[in-house]
Formats: sequence, structure tokens, C-alpha cells
Amino acid sequence: MTELLFYKDPYIKEFDARIVKIDGNKIYLDKTAFYPEGGGQPSDRGKIIGDGFELDVVDVQKDGDVAHIVRTSKGVKLGSVHCKIDWNRRYDFMQQHTGHHILAAAIKRVLGVDVFGSVIFEDVNKMEFERDPRESIRKIEALANGVVWSSLPVKTSVHARSNIPSDLRKSPKEGISEVRVVRVGDFDAVPCAGTHVKNSAEVGIIKITNVYRKTKDVWRVEFVCGFRTLKYMNDVLDERNKLKEKLNSSNLVEAVEKLYDECVELRKRLHDIQLELALGKVSRDGKVCYYIGDMDMKLMEELAVRMSDCNIALASTRGYVLLSSGSLDVKNLMKEITNKFGGKGGGGTIVRAGGVSNPVKALEYAVERMR
Ligand SMILES: [Zn+2]
Repeated sequence: MTELLFYKDPYIKEFDARIVKIDGNKIYLDKTAFYPEGGGQPSDRGKIIGDGFELDVVDVQKDGDVAHIVRTSKGVKLGSVHCKIDWNRRYDFMQQHTGHHILAAAIKRVLGVDVFGSVIFEDVNKMEFERDPRESIRKIEALANGVVWSSLPVKTSVHARSNIPSDLRKSPKEGISEVRVVRVGDFDAVPCAGTHVKNSAEVGIIKITNVYRKTKDVWRVEFVCGFRTLKYMNDVLDERNKLKEKLNSSNLVEAVEKLYDECVELRKRLHDIQLELALGKVSRDGKVCYYIGDMDMKLMEELAVRMSDCNIALASTRGYVLLSSGSLDVKNLMKEITNKFGGKGGGGTIVRAGGVSNPVKALEYAVERMR
């Protein structure tokens, strides 16, 4: 079995070891500080450097032992190697993971519910629980960050299953004989097999970035901790600055509201112009008034209202057909049209259909039959 150095000291960045087995692209060491994926924490990356070879570790997985997955093991020999962990990546996970414990404990204290479905991703962290947190988000954040800034020691202890502490936030998994407990000061204690920072202050800050209902009963929060929060805030500020430049305003809310009002007004004016243009282009064939153009259904309906003195057949290049008549059975005529040209529709004295495959032909057919 590989000796797991990250449990003795999660701050080991480089170490010497021996390759004891090579199996395809899997390398096995006598001891390792590479954390294998597990407990919601992604695996480490880094390098294994030996005599005449340097390997990029692209994944680390538990398979009864610890498999260091490399691109190729060609030219690799058993024996001494020097290993380097991608420390920025690992320390980020340690900040996220410890922040996760603190936030989950804050949620339990404020909302009284257990957190589940917890995952640390490379960009964002997620946790789920069964209570609407929206009114309490600021309170949860304040409590969690108060713990971060209290510089509480984060300590690990190992207990026999029969002798676990009584103050655990969660029960240990079934079937394990030894339970590893991670304790953040006197604020939280929970069974966990991940890697953590040694003081809560190293988490830096915990920021909830998104809250939403995942299913009927399950709510999800997304959050970031530590250096990742700085990156997140910079991305948000870059986005804001781009918008400010685009809108030529330092007050984004005001600028967007103004833009929105203008947009509503312009849409209305465009609609009126389209209606007048369409009215001017309507053709008349005996008792039938007809027109085809690029129209939405609302425009077609208004057009029909404006021509209520004749039998009306309208089609849109978008696949809509509208028929209206005071005397003819337009309902059955529409059925014929949708049977011939596809689409679905219905109605009373005004019948509408959408999804008509050939609106030009459909209109010709309607005019012919209405005449
Ligand atoms: Zn943990």
C-alpha cells in the first residue's frame, strides 16, 4: 500500500519516492503526496521526475492503491524519483474544501438542515439542501466569514468507529473502521478524507455566487473561496467595465433601464409602421383580401381587425396562416390547409395556424377556395 503523505502533512509540495510498479500509463509509488480524487475533491496534478524521464501526472485515482496516471510510461524505470505537486491547484482545493466545511456548518446553524451533494469543481463549488435559503443568504455568509476571520485552527484526528466524538455534524459513512475527523476550532467537526488548510484564516473569504432551486425540494448554492474569489470578483468587474464602456455610462442600472424603455418604444413604432405598410400592400380578389409578408401573429391579428369588411386570408413567411370570415366556414378550410401543407391550428371566426411548410401555396389555396 502506498504511504499517504498528504494525511501527515497536506502542505508537502515536493517529495522523494520510489516507483514500485508500472501498469500501462499508471505509476505506483511507495509513498505519495498526490491526492487522489475523492470526497468531492478533484485529484492533484504535477510531475514525477526520474533518471532520464519527466512525467506529467494528468490524473490520480484510488484503485485499492493510488494510481498516478501519466500520458505515457515509455522509458520509465522502477526506482527513485522526485515528485512535484501543482501547488496552486492543490492549495486552491484546500481553501475551497475548508471553506466548504465552514459554509455547510453555517447553513446547518442558520437553516437547521444538513448539506448534501457537495462537489468542488475547478471553477465553482456546489452544495445542496432542502430549504429555501434566499432570505438568510447574507446571514449565512456573515456567520461563515466571521469564522474564517477568527483564525480558528483546523485539526484532524483519527478515531475508531466505536469511539467517535459525539459532536459530529454528520455521521461517518457505513463500513469504515477508522474515522478521520476534521475540526474547525469549536465551530464544526465532521468526518472527512480530504485536504484542508491548517487555519480558517487561510480560506480568505467565502462568497456565495448563485442560489437556485434545483428540484421541487432541493436548493443549490454555488460559492467560491480564497484566491478564487479574487478571480471571480475581477471577472465580474471586467464584465461591468465592458458594459459601462458599451453603454457609455457609469450607472449601469439607469443605463439599462433607459435602453429597455427605448427598446419598448422602438418596437411599438416598428410594429405600427409594419402594420401600415402591410395594410397598403393588401390585395383584393373579389370578396377576398389577402397578403403575405414577414409578420408575427400579433401583427396578422391586428391586420385582420383593420380589414373586417371582407373575407381575410393572411400568411407569414414565418409559417403562420390566418383566415377570417363572417360568412364562410374558415375552420374547415384551415383543416384542409393544414392537411395539405402541414402545421397546427384552430379558432372560431378567426382561425390561426403555425408551422405551415409552404405559406405561399397555402395562401393561394385559401384565396382560391374563399373566392
Ligand atoms: Zn473536508
